[in-house]
Amino acid sequence: MAQPKIEIYTLEWCPYCRRTKAFFKSKDLSYEEYDIADEKNKQEMQERSGGEKTVPQIFIDGENIGGYDELIKLKSSDEMQEIWGMAESDFHEELWDVIIIGAGPAGLSAAIYAARKGLKVLVLAVAIGGQVIETDMIDNYIGIPDTDGQTLIKSFWDHMDKYEVRAELGEKVVDIVCADEKVVEAGQQVDEKAGKKTGEKEKGNEVDQGWEKEEANVNAKNIFKLKLADDRTVRAKSLIVASGTKKRELGVPGENKFKNSGVYYCAICDGFLYAGEDVAVVGGGNSGLEAALDLAKLDCQVSLIETNDHLQGDNVLQEQVLSRDSIKVFYSCRVKEILGDEQVKEIKVRDKDTGEINTIQVAAVFVEIGLTPNVGFIYDLVATNSRDEIIIDKKNKTDVRGIWAAGDVTDIEAKQIIIATAEGALAALEVNKYLNEI
Ligand SMILES: Cc1cc2nc3c(=O)[nH]c(=O)nc-3n(C[C@H](O)[C@H](O)[C@H](O)COP(=O)(O)OP(=O)(O)OC[C@H]3O[C@@H](n4cnc5c(N)ncnc54)[C@H](O)[C@@H]3O)c2cc1C
Repeated sequence: MAQPKIEIYTLEWCPYCRRTKAFFKSKDLSYEEYDIADEKNKQEMQERSGGEKTVPQIFIDGENIGGYDELIKLKSSDEMQEIWGMAESDFHEELWDVIIIGAGPAGLSAAIYAARKGLKVLVLAVAIGGQVIETDMIDNYIGIPDTDGQTLIKSFWDHMDKYEVRAELGEKVVDIVCADEKVVEAGQQVDEKAGKKTGEKEKGNEVDQGWEKEEANVNAKNIFKLKLADDRTVRAKSLIVASGTKKRELGVPGENKFKNSGVYYCAICDGFLYAGEDVAVVGGGNSGLEAALDLAKLDCQVSLIETNDHLQGDNVLQEQVLSRDSIKVFYSCRVKEILGDEQVKEIKVRDKDTGEINTIQVAAVFVEIGLTPNVGFIYDLVATNSRDEIIIDKKNKTDVRGIWAAGDVTDIEAKQIIIATAEGALAALEVNKYLNEI
């Protein structure tokens, strides 16, 4: 069967565009790319997509399917099986020594170390690179000064590619259960915690779909069954959770309704199409300050909403923000609602000191209020702290036998690339020891 025609409208600096291209490459699917920095391509994209203002916009055989998130959702549907059928494979039929969830620094480093120990390794990830791919300037990765996220993660990926690692992008793990009756040995103690999952639970905006749970036949030889977004399951003798973090959401009325039509979580991806307009940035930490500056450079008038009576980010960024006439800071304020018709038109903001509600007219809202761990799929299985981070010991082990965690998803305080890679390596070495012992 001939490959369908895949077209992607992109911007050079957009992380979701990089994820989309990496996804198609990993499936051996070729594509045509149009950079919307070229005005002609920008107009063409908007005409073909009914006025979409966000990149990437993906077209398959001429039909607009949306951006990366829509691509991954669609990937799981029957409708698209013909396309993915060309690249789809049998990885779900194997029993893996270790499945690594995540293809950021922690996951890729774990994969290299595990493969070098001769383990049968599967990496499952929604997208390549996690947060790193959103980072333009990285100066603190030892030995590689002045790099950027895309270059660094590509070098991690290429390094991993030298080994016998099976890596599948576009695969979202939605649930995990322990237990496989085939390996249960009579008389062994049942782990009280593992396998004790119940019903539906919503955590971090991910819904644990409460699929049929097996009995808690959990013992010294835990086998883990992972459920993927398209309902397939995969099995492994051990797991390394390296699923990182995602952007925190506001949780106010209007946020869901206007996602991708005025509410965004990545100013460098989606700010471009609001050049010259009035916009709001929510959050006065480093990410919020950087977003406000990026948007000001696009001639936007920026309302920066900060809940405290002072900005939070680095002094150097604060000074730049405060010196810009086009950025107005609203201190001690909280966004209460986002309003509009087809597109965002205004936000309601409450002053915490006076209780006064103000309306600010904006065409888009960029939410930059921090990060939250990606734990929805494992929340009921392993212990987490009050910030929903997975609790690990000095050897990156969780409280469930056979499950390790590494990187930003854990309760390790410093969230940095070099630390995530070191944790991934340590977790893989510990997994190897564990598999040799059982
Ligand atoms: C704007 C910004 C700038 C930064 N700058 C720097 C810097 O200059 N220097 C530095 O050292 N650090 C920096 N950091 C921090 C650094 O990016 C992180 O510490 C690092 O990326 C953590 O790596 P990780 O592998 O733990 O997680 P991530 O990089 O977040 O990767 C997580 C992976 O898990 C996958 N995933 C998530 N959920 C699932 C699921 N359910 N199923 C399957 N896969 C899943 C994701 O697709 C992704 O592949 C920055 C972070 C940000 C946000």
